[in-house]
Amino acid sequence: MTDSPELASRRIAVIGAGIAGLSCAVHLQAAGLHPQVFDKSRGLGGRLSTRRGDTWQCDHGAQYFTARHPAFRVVVEAWVAAGMAAVWQPRLAVLGDASSHRPDPTLARYVGTPRMTAPAHALSQGLTLRTQSTISELRRTAQGWQLRSAETGWLDELFDAVVLALPAPQAGTLLAGHSAALSSVVGSVRMRACWAVMLRFDESVNLSFDAAFVNSGPLRWIARDNSKPARGGTETWLLHATTDWSDAHVEADPDTVTAALEQEFVRLGGTTATARAAHRWRYAEADAALAIGHAWEPVIQVGVCGDWLQGGKVEGAWLSGLALAQAITRPDTP
Ligand SMILES: Cc1cc2nc3c(=O)[nH]c(=O)nc-3n(C[C@H](O)[C@H](O)[C@H](O)COP(=O)(O)OP(=O)(O)OC[C@H]3O[C@@H](n4cnc5c(N)ncnc54)[C@H](O)[C@@H]3O)c2cc1C
Repeated sequence: MTDSPELASRRIAVIGAGIAGLSCAVHLQAAGLHPQVFDKSRGLGGRLSTRRGDTWQCDHGAQYFTARHPAFRVVVEAWVAAGMAAVWQPRLAVLGDASSHRPDPTLARYVGTPRMTAPAHALSQGLTLRTQSTISELRRTAQGWQLRSAETGWLDELFDAVVLALPAPQAGTLLAGHSAALSSVVGSVRMRACWAVMLRFDESVNLSFDAAFVNSGPLRWIARDNSKPARGGTETWLLHATTDWSDAHVEADPDTVTAALEQEFVRLGGTTATARAAHRWRYAEADAALAIGHAWEPVIQVGVCGDWLQGGKVEGAWLSGLALAQAITRPDTP
């Protein structure tokens, strides 16, 4: 909690309710500031995401997360204790050239339970959230920052600071004309696409593993989603295409993508599904994530956080949000 009354009265707009934005908001609120979180989606979690049908579900973004940093381990252990995450112990295989990827058998792989979004919901408790708010423009006035929402136009509230917890290109759009320094940081990172295909089956697929790193062809990862803890019994497989294939097919029709990737799954020993769906992640991952944690421009009171600033994974996103919150609440910050 901050001792500075001036700091404590500050209202911060956090744009993006993925793990980075939520982590930043949690830490700002814990320091006594007033964050308000905006997201364009109906739900929370960003790329930590689960598609749900009547009798099935499938994680189509992040597949699992690791916890190496002591601070993040504490948080993950609390999620586990609260039933919001659990260790997933899939039978793992490597298909194709096995020498290029050796999975670490000792690594604890965590998933949200009962869905991948559970950790985001855990973080969001007690925060002020506004979903279905696509922030399309920022305006700096003498009284503070004003936000324009694509759904409702210019918002009435004014904010003392703005956090952009978005993939680099989306942060870049909002920063245009406001900060050359931050624009240069976001412009230094290229984000790659990933096509995800979810396959549902009436019967168990006869493969001897639950997940596999695929080192040849258009797929890079396949997983039996219902092998994760606390999932329903419906047999569901998730396929992720490589970034090269996904970038090359980024504007392709989802049915064409689904047919091509399902065919690959069958070639790897799988069977034809009874139902299928596709999702395109246009900004799935940074080509080469930075390791600077965050970037903060104190003169205009705008900062950026996200996985692309800290290693490119769920853990990095959480650490990045923490790092930006610490920069904002540092007493010597002008
Ligand atoms: C296919 C895939 C597989 C992955 N696999 C793994 C894995 O196995 N392990 C792992 O650790 N990580 C994995 N990741 C990466 C992981 O998902 C990310 O590192 C992490 O979720 C990023 O969190 P973030 O908060 O930085 O960004 P995001 O989760 O992208 O959050 C950004 C949020 O901003 C919102 N938003 C965007 N524009 C606007 C706007 N204009 N106005 C309002 N809101 C907006 C979005 O809706 C989103 O909720 C994977 C990602 C993908 C896509």
